[in-house]
Amino acid sequence: MIRISNYIDGRHAEPSDGAYIDDIDPSIGEKYAEVPDSPPEDIDAAVSAARDAFPDWSTASPEFRHDQLIRLSIAIEDNLDRLARAECVDNGKPLSLACSVDIPRAVSNFKFYATAAMQFASESHSNSGSSINYTLRQPIGVVGCISPWNLPLYLFTWKIAPALAAGNCVVAKPSEITPMTAFLLSELCSEAGFPEGVLNIVHGTGPKTGAAIVKHPDIGAISFTGGTKTGEWIASEAAPNFKKLSLELGGKNPNIIFADCDYEEMLETTVRSSFANQGQICLCGSRVFVEQPIYERFRDDFVRKIKALVVGDPLESGTNVGAVVSKPHMEKVLSYIDLAKEEGGSILTGGERVTLDGRCENGYFLRPTVIEGLAHDCRTNLEEIFGPVVTIMPFEDEEEVIGYANTVRYGLSSTVWTSDLSRAHRVAERLEAGIVWVNCWLLRDLRTPFGGVKDSGMGREGGFEALRFFTEEKNVCIKYGD
Ligand code: NDP
Repeated sequence: MIRISNYIDGRHAEPSDGAYIDDIDPSIGEKYAEVPDSPPEDIDAAVSAARDAFPDWSTASPEFRHDQLIRLSIAIEDNLDRLARAECVDNGKPLSLACSVDIPRAVSNFKFYATAAMQFASESHSNSGSSINYTLRQPIGVVGCISPWNLPLYLFTWKIAPALAAGNCVVAKPSEITPMTAFLLSELCSEAGFPEGVLNIVHGTGPKTGAAIVKHPDIGAISFTGGTKTGEWIASEAAPNFKKLSLELGGKNPNIIFADCDYEEMLETTVRSSFANQGQICLCGSRVFVEQPIYERFRDDFVRKIKALVVGDPLESGTNVGAVVSKPHMEKVLSYIDLAKEEGGSILTGGERVTLDGRCENGYFLRPTVIEGLAHDCRTNLEEIFGPVVTIMPFEDEEEVIGYANTVRYGLSSTVWTSDLSRAHRVAERLEAGIVWVNCWLLRDLRTPFGGVKDSGMGREGGFEALRFFTEEKNVCIKYGD
């Protein structure tokens, strides 16, 4: 049995109150590790270590910080297979996905922000012959990073890399449902001789450990990715203390397919954008709108392709769809399928739990589910399910589908399929979303701003946006003329 430890001040430590919770492998439905459920005292210790490390780390040269972050990226790359396997076991995702997406992206996150630390610059405003203003962008101090379970190491490093690159010291908490790769990262930090106290990883549940991060008076900024309800609570706690906040929250993303699209490419990508990672990616397109002339053709082809997806042991190479992350999550997804039926939806494929033979007989597997016949504004189409469930709906014209797409309270991402360039621009402009993909999905360039509008959050991650978030601006005005 693996016992995960906290990583505070460069040392691995048990939770100070000795409390542990079970870490379940969702593909077999059994406990395989124990994770600390750390009390607020452990957050105090982590903040204190981070405060002590801050003077040296924040004044180190960008090149020094670059070198430290690059060492971590190399350590992750060298351990790619081990980390991918750990992610697969902890989360239930196919090993192939962890090998090709999750862990390589964690490597890229460190590489990207290591080099960004060397490139980050600020403005100056000159009034020739009389004065000059220049802007300092200074690290905040100790910052908190809280991440979810769906892309564990990918999203964890997406927060801590820019926070560290900007010169902050970090207290970070991964989801207690998928803590393993963050724990392995802490071991790699020790092996790489990463400076003590600069990165502290404290494990535990949201209401106990996460809340202690949010409430800590010496944590100046919180970067959070997770559900909208949790984000709402964090905002209400952080705002009276004037903490900086970046909130990346839920989504209910439209995938809009016009009849003039490149059909085969759209079909291939729509299978992925619907069910990659068991539909547990905040960017998955869970509402698929199809222009009337190709609706029936699309429905039949799509359902045929979805039926062919292999639901299986995440460790096996032929598996397309692994386990969902936990039993409560599986039950939540199934309850939404029941709701869809009550609301008049027809299940075209899926709609049920899958029981596998052998090793995974007690795992939490769901068949990818396609539902048609629902109104665009029923609960199934308004609320985030965050699992392998999509609805498909026909539409007549551009105006109608923009209205449908924007009905929901969320506004994270959208996808548009069309070969009409003018329409692509027109529709992209009117969609209420932080990200619009045209004729593609999840094509990421780490330099771009990433985040949502409405209930999908506030603030942007990515590129220099994240470095701006993790720094405070100070304007210095110097008069030198008469
Ligand atoms: P949660 O909001 O339940 O949890 C996210 C993180 O916050 C976890 O580490 C959790 O800890 C912690 N947490 C929970 N309660 C509190 C609290 N009171 N104070 C501080 N921290 C707390 O989200 P999920 O983990 O269920 O993740 C799924 C959600 O994340 C979906 O809504 C999805 O759309 C969203 N998401 C958004 C993305 C984006 O970029 N916009 C990307 C990926 C996911 P613990 O798990 O230990 O309880």
